[in-house]
Amino acid sequence: MKYCMAANWKMNKTVPETVEFIKAFLPMVKDITDVEIVISPPFTSLYAASESLKGSDVKLSAQDVFWEEKGAFTGEVSPGMLLDAGCRYVIIGHSERRQYFHDDDTVVNKKIKAAHKAGLGVIFCCGESLEERESGRTFDVIGREIQTGLEGVSAEDLIIAYEPIWAIGTGKTATKEQAQEVHAFIRKTLKTAYGSAADAIRILYGGSVTPENVDGLMACQDVNGALVGGASLKPESFYKIVSFKKES
Ligand code: PEP
Repeated sequence: MKYCMAANWKMNKTVPETVEFIKAFLPMVKDITDVEIVISPPFTSLYAASESLKGSDVKLSAQDVFWEEKGAFTGEVSPGMLLDAGCRYVIIGHSERRQYFHDDDTVVNKKIKAAHKAGLGVIFCCGESLEERESGRTFDVIGREIQTGLEGVSAEDLIIAYEPIWAIGTGKTATKEQAQEVHAFIRKTLKTAYGSAADAIRILYGGSVTPENVDGLMACQDVNGALVGGASLKPESFYKIVSFKKES
């Protein structure tokens, strides 16, 4: 299975900054063929990014989507519009969307179905808060997010990102053991839902991934890549992450 390294830029970078990043980044990664590299700029930079990425294998993702195709939904963007702007993927269910924008499991499910229907690949995020972890509810929370979020969703073109909320943007990374434990649980849950098709679903780890900790995390059996926030904003730093050392 090909590792996937996805950058989530959140609400960062103007159009010129996006283009400048890509100009510096593409020569660095031109020989990397065994890792799928994805960048997710804000909506306003998507089209410029897709133009700048032409001729490269780096894929483009949006950070969110609405489930309707078109109409009176001020401020929203449809799956078809993302495809039109050059996106291959869309991130759905990020904890910041769940926390600040009321993207609950049902909303997340509708968005995933609409994205798939339009032909977009989905990076589906799940993860527990510190309070949920400390009260022993990690597996309950993630089990629920997967069960409701992925209800009726195809296993094809689906990537899962496990992002413990307490590790996002905090500098606190899950240990290899913590990450592997939850990834193994997610794999088992997916197997129950999808049978053998679950084996092909990549499960990314996200939460304060850096060039320093990426090798250890990627060595875990059920970790198939990373979703990277802060450390993906500089080309050098994201390059170091996508060129992590694989175990021989
Ligand atoms: C994220 O928001 O998806 C993320 C993983 O952020 P960071 O790497 O900054 O913790």
